[in-house]
Amino acid sequence: MPQFKNVDLDADIIIIGAGPAGLTAAQYAARANLNVLVLEQMAPGGQALNIDLLENYPGIAKGKPGMDFCDDLHRQAREFGASFLTEQAASLKKADDVFSVSLASGKTLKALALILATGAKHRTLDIPGEAEFFGRGVSYCGTCDGPFFKNKKIFVVGGGDSACDEAQYLARLTDRVILIHRRDRFRAQKALAERVLRNPHIEVRFNTVMNEIKGGQKVSSVVLEKTSGECKGTGEIYEEETDAVFIFSGMAPQTSLAPDVKKDGTGYIIVNQEMAASVPGLFAAGDVRSGAFRQVITAAGDGAAAAHFAAAYIDGIRGEAYT
Ligand code: NAP
Repeated sequence: MPQFKNVDLDADIIIIGAGPAGLTAAQYAARANLNVLVLEQMAPGGQALNIDLLENYPGIAKGKPGMDFCDDLHRQAREFGASFLTEQAASLKKADDVFSVSLASGKTLKALALILATGAKHRTLDIPGEAEFFGRGVSYCGTCDGPFFKNKKIFVVGGGDSACDEAQYLARLTDRVILIHRRDRFRAQKALAERVLRNPHIEVRFNTVMNEIKGGQKVSSVVLEKTSGECKGTGEIYEEETDAVFIFSGMAPQTSLAPDVKKDGTGYIIVNQEMAASVPGLFAAGDVRSGAFRQVITAAGDGAAAAHFAAAYIDGIRGEAYT
């Protein structure tokens, strides 16, 4: 194991999070001959595991299921020499150029650089019934839970790429998908939005919000409000039966590990062009960092850049330690 100023390190670099950003960083850092440890609390792949068919990654012309793509990324990183640990990182600190990562299991790991690739998690609507019926008709992942609602009636909430992508997927399972969006136009990329609007299995209702999800053992209805561009609470309110509600109201960055790092107004970690955050030696890549165009390809690009510049940073502090 590497050493630095007589401190035993567990790795040169620890990467926290094994989505496309973390897995690409692992591959690049291992190829740069660094000793690399990746921490991931779940299966490697992150949100990309839920992509039904990854169709916009350059070079994969026919597309590939997200799960297969993530498997390949994981295998590639391991083959280049990165190690993986299924553990939850609980906190970080840095002293005398050495980062210590405390794990939920109580163990502490030390390294010279860290790449945070912890991604983002689903934002909730915070309406009555949402938490209560989670797993009983309320879901945040079409590809995970859609098959439970074959030929059933499904509401989808949101107007971004996720809502449009997932509505398209769900519309292959049933011809009763109703997509509601709070505004009068989609935020999603034009091509996706147009596909949704053309899909005969999807009914789009703009200017509509969901105020409540109701049910007994499982979801049975939703309370909706037609806002007509006015504020919530002023429009026509009606209740409608449904079997499921899929919510895609955006993402919130997972940054609780780095409370002292500079963030933008929406909580994403600010990095420079080298993916370096405000603490020297700490890099952020993928959906957790500010300003990202949140795609698999850009997450992978961030991961490659973060690994490259983290390797340069490590060379720098090792050089200083020897002089
Ligand atoms: P997003 O782009 O932030 O969209 C979230 C949607 O939810 C918006 O339409 C927003 O409405 C709506 N919303 C937010 N809070 C709401 C609330 N309280 N009530 C009702 N509606 C609410 O999030 P996303 O679609 O999950 O996408 C996240 C990132 O991943 C994006 O950068 C996206 O491009 C990327 N992505 C890409 C693909 C792809 O390329 N195929 C697929 C999935 C995701 P407003 O529009 O009114 O704000």
